Amino acid sequence: MQPTAEPHNATLVEKTPLETYVPPAKPSLIGLSRTELADRLGDIGVAPAQRKMRVQQLWHWLYFRGAQSFDDMTSISKGIRAELAQHFTVDRPEVVAEQISNDGTRKWLLRLPSGDSVQKAHEVECVYIPETDRGTLCVSSQVGCTLNCSFCHTGTQRLVRNLTAGEIVGQVMVARDRLNDWADREDGTRRVTNIVMMGMGEPLYNFDAVRDALLIVGDNEGIGISRRRITLSTSGVVPNIVRAGEEIGVMLAISLHAVRDELRNELVPLNRKYPIKELLQACRDYPGASNARRITFEYVMLKGVNDSLDDAKLLVKMLKGIPAKINLIPFNPWPGTAYECSDWDQIEKFSEYIFNAGYSSPVRTPRGRDILAACGQLKSETEKLSARERQALRAMAMTD
Ligand code: SAH
Ligand code: SF4
Repeated sequence: MQPTAEPHNATLVEKTPLETYVPPAKPSLIGLSRTELADRLGDIGVAPAQRKMRVQQLWHWLYFRGAQSFDDMTSISKGIRAELAQHFTVDRPEVVAEQISNDGTRKWLLRLPSGDSVQKAHEVECVYIPETDRGTLCVSSQVGCTLNCSFCHTGTQRLVRNLTAGEIVGQVMVARDRLNDWADREDGTRRVTNIVMMGMGEPLYNFDAVRDALLIVGDNEGIGISRRRITLSTSGVVPNIVRAGEEIGVMLAISLHAVRDELRNELVPLNRKYPIKELLQACRDYPGASNARRITFEYVMLKGVNDSLDDAKLLVKMLKGIPAKINLIPFNPWPGTAYECSDWDQIEKFSEYIFNAGYSSPVRTPRGRDILAACGQLKSETEKLSARERQALRAMAMTD
């Protein structure tokens, strides 16, 4: 399969055609918790008294040093290394293509086993966005998405499956591998400093895997990206918002996009199940939200749809009492969409109103548009859903 856009200056790492994809023969240890690692060590005969120490060593090699083979793990005895290599791998998802945008944004197309005899592999995308003071990695949580927001490209893709914890952590590891960003970087700086769960999929519809993965990413004996630098974006799965605060403890972003239920039902169909009022209550109840840890409200600017000053006024009014910041996202077009991005003038007016009402209201600069890496442009399959299929998927998501 080809990557989604014709890259300007892409490095393609096409390895195997999709049809000849061979799924890995052995399981990877990436994504396992310490307890699960101890169990695997038990399975290959490591004595109980030794397991804790061995787990600590493995954790360090896997997640702090980014070892790409058991051979590299020199502090672990040769016998155990050989035994590990016989049963497991440290494989990350396979990188099929790497595209580099004119603005330095990088997008990787990753291939994963589908576990299906008809369709052998799935593909997801993961995007790295360098800025002067940080480097943000945009990570996917599902192949496709069931939710079909009308302005989002990912929503037009067939739902395929949830990613495992290993496949989510694996995206961070791929980025570190390819950016030469492990602990031994000579200048001691890091390129991936922030994580946003804003790639393909709805992270709160894959709760357990996302939680397990983010706990690994945030663990300071390993990848060590602090929870304050990890943001989970949701279209509003209310029951899981509070759980996310309690069990993951990362920063929260809400894809609001509309201030009236009627319009939000259309843009974010999940709103029919969890309307704005319930969503905002879940934000008020979000554990850990404070002025120092504000909730981000994402608002995509759609010309003539949600971008009037009345919308801005209502937005300010309804966020009263919630420690919030508002992130205006210029709509990123994709082939076949009927929406247009608001005029720049209007975005500025909208932003100014919000700013004068006391909210920080940065406009998210579109990054990587030339390689379809910007918000909502991710879509690894070229295939489009028929109207009927979209409706069926939407109904499925609603009754979940
Ligand atoms: N499913 C989650 C996270 C992934 S989408 C969610 O919806 O929050 C990340 C952000 O990009 C969301 O705010 C989403 O609404 C926004 N987005 C989707 N399509 C877009 C597009 N075409 N242009 C701009 N932003 C888009
Ligand atoms: Fe799914 Fe988020 Fe896109 Fe909506 S905006 S379809 S929830 S990925």
